[in-house]
Amino acid sequence: MNLSYWEIKSYVSNIDFTVVGSGIVGLNCALGLKARFPKANILILERGVLPQGASTKNAGFACFGSLSEILDDLKTHSENEVIELIEKRRKGLSLLRQTLSDKAISYQQHGGYELFDQENPEGFHNCMSQMAYVNAILKPHFKKDVFEVKDNLFNFENIQEQLSFTSLEGQIDTGRMMRSLTHLVQSKGVLILNSISVENFEELNDHVHVKTNLFDFKTNRMLICTNGFASNLLAIEVKPARAQVLITKPIKNLSIRGTFHLDKGYYYFRNIDSRILLGGGRNLDFKTEETAEMGQTEIIQNKLEALLKTTILPATTFEIDQRWSGIMGVGNTKKPIVKQLSSKVFCAVRLGGMGIAIGSNVGRELADLVD
Ligand SMILES: Cc1cc2nc3c(=O)[nH]c(=O)nc-3n(C[C@H](O)[C@H](O)[C@H](O)COP(=O)(O)OP(=O)(O)OC[C@H]3O[C@@H](n4cnc5c(N)ncnc54)[C@H](O)[C@@H]3O)c2cc1C
Repeated sequence: MNLSYWEIKSYVSNIDFTVVGSGIVGLNCALGLKARFPKANILILERGVLPQGASTKNAGFACFGSLSEILDDLKTHSENEVIELIEKRRKGLSLLRQTLSDKAISYQQHGGYELFDQENPEGFHNCMSQMAYVNAILKPHFKKDVFEVKDNLFNFENIQEQLSFTSLEGQIDTGRMMRSLTHLVQSKGVLILNSISVENFEELNDHVHVKTNLFDFKTNRMLICTNGFASNLLAIEVKPARAQVLITKPIKNLSIRGTFHLDKGYYYFRNIDSRILLGGGRNLDFKTEETAEMGQTEIIQNKLEALLKTTILPATTFEIDQRWSGIMGVGNTKKPIVKQLSSKVFCAVRLGGMGIAIGSNVGRELADLVD
């Protein structure tokens, strides 16, 4: 692309910080940098016309972990590590709400439920018997019991008649959150250029030389926030993980309200605009879903539809309106990688299924690493 003198001078010269990726992490990183270096010239490059990873594709759960997920984590992490993980999510959600306001992100706290498969009474009893223990370890942080038992008031079928419930879980409008975050970042004077893909970079003595699909330029520091796509630019342990979603058309008199987890979080659904949004099923075909390509597969979409018919809306006629997917970044631990890679290059990547909760803090943490 042949840029003019004016374009070079005004858009891609004297760049102090280049953030790669305009998801929740990249945008928060730019906010953090602006707060620390108000006069800095900050550029965000995004390869999509809209962000093309997970931040505009997700289910909008403002959650910190269901009962079974916490118990699962306790099998592989120490109690302190699990509490630290949950604290990070709690604090991250509160930072997100403070930064943008509940109105701007349509935050609603209808609570979160966990449904237990009828075919797995053992899993159900195990969770219920450990609820008091999990409440006890979380109480110092939440100042109240986090989980309680609720009856199946929504007439879900093929599940155990009791559900685990937390009043502390909420939901947001993902699109509104990302638009207001983008607006806030731009209002601070940060330039976001879309449809520009960083192809590679070279760190030189006094700057980083960045090569994009359209032009090359220099930046003083580069901050890579490309999550599931991180391994395209960096030799780093991040695998892409696709997640598929569908949404119904509006349903008259829909009484389901809240966020719902099923099968240890492998499935999740919520109400939005009188519709049900349902996602999950990666566990049906992990290998195929380890991809950075958007798309849907029959096996997962059929399972999602079957769940709607047999479990979630067994007595209601519904139609599917839309289907889509998004790409997350995963690895052998749930901890994201927030790191200085060299004197001028930094990264914050490997955010799995809790990016709404931790994304704001992860972005700010990255900005704090810069000297
Ligand atoms: C279907 C689905 C449902 C989910 N549901 C929830 C939920 O309910 N609650 C929750 O907390 N989390 C959820 N998540 C996870 C959450 O969305 C992610 O953890 C979070 O959005 C990650 O943010 P990020 O900024 O790290 O990555 P991303 O949002 O993926 O941002 C990375 C950006 O980098 C851009 N990029 C990549 N490579 C380049 C390049 N070379 N040059 C320029 N730009 C590049 C991409 O286009 C992308 O926009 C869900 C995810 C998915 C996919």
